[in-house]
Amino acid sequence: MGKEKIILTADRPTGKLHIGHYVGSLKRRVELQNSNLYDKIFIMIADAQALTDNAENPEKVRQNIIEVALDYLACGIDPTKSTVFIQSQIPELCELSFYYMNLVTVSRLQRNPTVKTEIQMRNFATSIPVGFFTYPISQAADITAFKATTVPVGEDQEPMLEQTREIVRKFNAVYGETLIEPEILLPDNSACLRLPGTDGKAKMSKSLNNCIYLSESAEDLQKKIMGMFTDPGHIHVQDPGKIEGNTVFTYLDAFCKPEHFAQYLPDYPNLDELKAHYQRGGLGDVKVKRFLNSIMQEELEPIRTRRKEFEKDIPAIYDMLKKGSKAAREVAADTLSDVRKAMKINYFEDIDLISAQAKKFGQ
Ligand code: ATP
Ligand code: MG
Repeated sequence: MGKEKIILTADRPTGKLHIGHYVGSLKRRVELQNSNLYDKIFIMIADAQALTDNAENPEKVRQNIIEVALDYLACGIDPTKSTVFIQSQIPELCELSFYYMNLVTVSRLQRNPTVKTEIQMRNFATSIPVGFFTYPISQAADITAFKATTVPVGEDQEPMLEQTREIVRKFNAVYGETLIEPEILLPDNSACLRLPGTDGKAKMSKSLNNCIYLSESAEDLQKKIMGMFTDPGHIHVQDPGKIEGNTVFTYLDAFCKPEHFAQYLPDYPNLDELKAHYQRGGLGDVKVKRFLNSIMQEELEPIRTRRKEFEKDIPAIYDMLKKGSKAAREVAADTLSDVRKAMKINYFEDIDLISAQAKKFGQ
């Protein structure tokens, strides 16, 4: 047990994917997929989870499944190497969640920092849907159903992984070694752990309307970059500027490579020198934004082009998702069977149980 290296990650189909998803997780998934170091890779479109806070808007979730799938393919997820599937098509996940619920307390869920922030962000106040409140448990079901060892995600997911590990430990302690404890794989680059929004807010998020989408047109991308939040105290070019909390520099930390200077900004040898000049004063925001725009256009152009190609055959994408969901379901069913056995609720598969009971009644 536990020899295989397995990846699972997911995204909520609540909108198109943005560059936060890309640097926080998606880019890494593609690299891991192509490294051939992993035995299996599962990529899930978390529609059931999206419904926990969009119950009254199922059409939004339905419409965005294909958008997320297109973004995956555009970024280089290859369905011959990775299993891409839709969460709601795997009913085994609900059953696992139901059993795991007995292993988690309400107060433990209340202490989950991500859930806390998200409840505030959505203004749920006292009207939190039970499904939303318990989504860390369903995430534990998703991860463990595929016996994932590695979960490449952004920093916001750290409390979810911790919660999953606790459930695994508890399950294994009570019912015997059955589930695998997963490890989080965070981005190496600290700017990518939690990419801020274009408005400077702590996290780029579909729910906050501060995103640069992967499929953005060249014009819209440029518009968003030129309108980005920088240092509000940096009014005149000559003024000294701040780097911390300056979103344009955070994006440069995330996307800029040394070779970009020779190509687009030969006056500076590297990012440190550019930052130093900004801090001294004498470097305008527009120049830095133009540089960022050149870099981002270079990164997103091939993604945009590939997406257009995949958009030409939408039925083929649904077919890929259907096949992926079927394959994923088989894996989840295997785990569920182990779980039922460990929990002693596999009555009809246990011949010994029936004969022992018969004996008890004198037969
Ligand atoms: P929603 O607002 O609907 O929750 P979201 O933008 O937070 O959407 P998710 O689908 O919840 O996106 O997240 C999918 C994956 O992308 C997770 O692994 C998450 O850690 C990562 N991710 C999302 N936003 C960012 C970000 N701004 N920086 C780094 N990683 C991110
Ligand atoms: Mg989220």
